[in-house]
This record gives sequence, structure tokens and C-alpha cells, in this order.
Amino acid sequence: MAKYTIKYACGHEGTVELFGKSKTREYEIKRLEKGDCPECEARLTAKENDAFAEERGLPELVGTERQVQWANTLRRTKLDACEYFIENNIMNMTDIGKDSIGKAMNWLYGQNKASFWIENRYESTDTTIHNAIKELEFMPPEGSMKDEKEFLVAPEDPKKEGVVRILIKGDYISFIYEKDSDFRTIVKKHYCKWNGMEWVKETTALTGMTDDIAAEIGRDLLDNGFRVAFPDKDVMDMSVNATFEKEHTKWILREDDKKIKIKWRNDLNCYYDAIALRGAKYRSGCVLVPAEYYRSIEDFAAEYDYYISPKARKVLDDAKAKIEGIPVPEFADIPEHKREDVPDPLAELMDED
Ligand SMILES: [Zn+2]
Repeated sequence: MAKYTIKYACGHEGTVELFGKSKTREYEIKRLEKGDCPECEARLTAKENDAFAEERGLPELVGTERQVQWANTLRRTKLDACEYFIENNIMNMTDIGKDSIGKAMNWLYGQNKASFWIENRYESTDTTIHNAIKELEFMPPEGSMKDEKEFLVAPEDPKKEGVVRILIKGDYISFIYEKDSDFRTIVKKHYCKWNGMEWVKETTALTGMTDDIAAEIGRDLLDNGFRVAFPDKDVMDMSVNATFEKEHTKWILREDDKKIKIKWRNDLNCYYDAIALRGAKYRSGCVLVPAEYYRSIEDFAAEYDYYISPKARKVLDDAKAKIEGIPVPEFADIPEHKREDVPDPLAELMDED
């Protein structure tokens, strides 16, 4: 039996039983003596838990005394990690993301069963937040059960469980589904980005209209066996009837008043096609072409499905107007010289003789 009396930093003494090599035991004794006794430590932890809960207005936990004591610490550790996680990711989040995270945190703060914190103690921080968001999604929104209609579509041959939810807010589209490698492949193919909580697609004037893009990606998900909840009827109809305009991934943009810039996303073939244009020059990931070759440029755009931005359209139109406006004067015929008009130097020399 190896029992040791420890003199704790708080001044209390206690007995512990230690096993193992003597070196290890000595080390453990020193470590214990640096800390407070278990009772003082528990009191301090409880104090910290209380302060944490009070600051956030957390509810009293419900459960057995032992459960509550344990869960209070688990809750503080977990919520602390969630708050830290959010602080460090909030910059990358969309408005939808911030909104749902705010609600999810509120839901977590409200969890008053000790068992909740005990059961989920091994979850990673992002899983905790993600699951909270999920809980909220499946809860009926307050007082708006009838208004909150979902526009659900199933594919002819469903291959996946559940439903992918598509949300639109401003220029952002969110895609919400369980972790699934096929789902991930599809949203990544459409250049969606993972912001820590959800897959998000940001649309701009260059990519095309948000509704069109939501419909296009929704259709891709349907074609791959996912059931989809669309944000509204228009987007759903566009997706089903394939009337959406596909996202632009190849562009003709204005470089300056005289040149256009050909830009594309991740396709080396685009470079070879563009650099073959008359007057084309490569510059930092793009190809520049003088606008006066507007005819080749327009043919190129039509053949390879490029989106011509309104500004580039103007540069091309101006170049066209300029080239077509070059005046054609009345050309006079070049007179043919008559032999007798020109003095023959040789003849003159001959005369001198
Ligand atoms: Zn003590």
C-alpha cells in the first residue's frame, strides 16, 4: 500500500493512494501539492460555473445532485468552446449563418437537462452547434405553421435519405444537409464554400442571378437522387422545368477602353482557345484582346459560351462603331503616265553629242 499525505496549496491535508514507479509517484505528489484539495477545487469550480451561468442568464440544471454538479462544468466547458468557435468564425459567415448560429446558441443556452450536457460531452464544438441548428430547423416556427410552406421536390429515383434544404438570403444561397460525400461533391462543383457551419454560394453580377443559380444547383442535387426543399415556388419551377440560366463561369470583361479581358474558372482549355484569338496576349491569368477584333471576339463568345459583361459589351460596340465609321473617301484613279510627257534623259544626252 502506498498511501501519502498531501499538503495542498489551500492549506488542507489529504491522503492519496499512488501506484507506479517511485519517480512517477514523487512527480504526482509534487503536482498535487501545487493545487488545492479536492473539496476546495470543487468549490472553486462551482463558483466559476455559477458566475458563468449568471452572466449568460442560464437556467438551473435539472437532474440528480451528482448529475447537476457534473453537468454544470460540462455545460460551461462546452458553451465556452462554442462561443470561442463562433468568435473565430463569424467573419466568414453569411447573414443566414449568423442568424441561425444566434438562434442555435440561444437554444443551447436554454438546455436545462443535466443529461443533455452529459450525453453530448464528447461531441466536437462544431457538431454541437450544427446539431442545434438542425434541432431548430425541424421545430415548427412559432405561430407560422401555415405560412412556412416548403417547396419539396423528389427525384424520379431517390437515392438519398432526408431532404436538402436550400435557403436564399440576399446574394447568398445556403445548402443544408447531413454530412454526405456526394452532397459535398455536388456543392463543391458549383463553387460553394464551407463557412464552418454550412455550404454557401455567393452570387454576384458576374455569376448570374441568385434564383437561377439556386435552381441550377437544386436540379443537380435532384438529378443525383436527393430530395430538395426549395425556398420558393419560382425557384422550384425553374429547377424542374430547366428554365434557369446556367451560372456563368467564363467571362468577357472590360480591360480598358480599347481592350477586353477573357477570364475563366479552372479550365486550361479555355486558355488555349482564347490565346488563339487575333491580337491575344496572356496577362495574369487572363487573356487580353484588342476590342477592334470584335467580330472574332463575338464569334468566340458564342462558340464557347462566354458571358459578355455590359461594360465589355460597350467596349466592343464602341470599337465596332469606330471601325465601321472609318470614312471611305472618293478614291481618284491613279493616272497612268504617258510616255511622251516624261522627258527621256537618255535621249537628251544623245542630243548633246
Ligand atoms: Zn482545501
